[in-house]
Amino acid sequence: MARIGLVAHDEKKDDLCRWAADHRDKLSTHELWGTGTTGRRITDATGLSVGLLKSGPLGGDQQLGAMIAEGRLDVLIFFIDPMSAQPHDVDVKALTRLATLYDVPLANNKATADAVLAFI
Ligand code: PGA
Repeated sequence: MARIGLVAHDEKKDDLCRWAADHRDKLSTHELWGTGTTGRRITDATGLSVGLLKSGPLGGDQQLGAMIAEGRLDVLIFFIDPMSAQPHDVDVKALTRLATLYDVPLANNKATADAVLAFI
């Protein structure tokens, strides 16, 4: 069982909910963690149980980063919106930096998320 972090920027939340619904059965065998709004949206859309952290801009991204640094997260699915500036861009950078540093599989779009999920 993998511990999977789930985050999506606002314009990408629908895409992540759809992806989670498409992979509902497989995801249900893993431990899921999400930033506040993303996690709630995924639970509403799929019925999957998602551990809820704070909303991303209020520290949820940093909580996921701490989980990575402490070896408590195995995979990060982070659907980033490449077309919008984010008020918490420094947190986004910190999270992707830690995923890179700790060699945690990091999927920033659906194609990569499909590939990562196929391997776990
Ligand atoms: P949210 O955070 O799921 O609470 O909206 C996501 C983000 O970091 O933008």
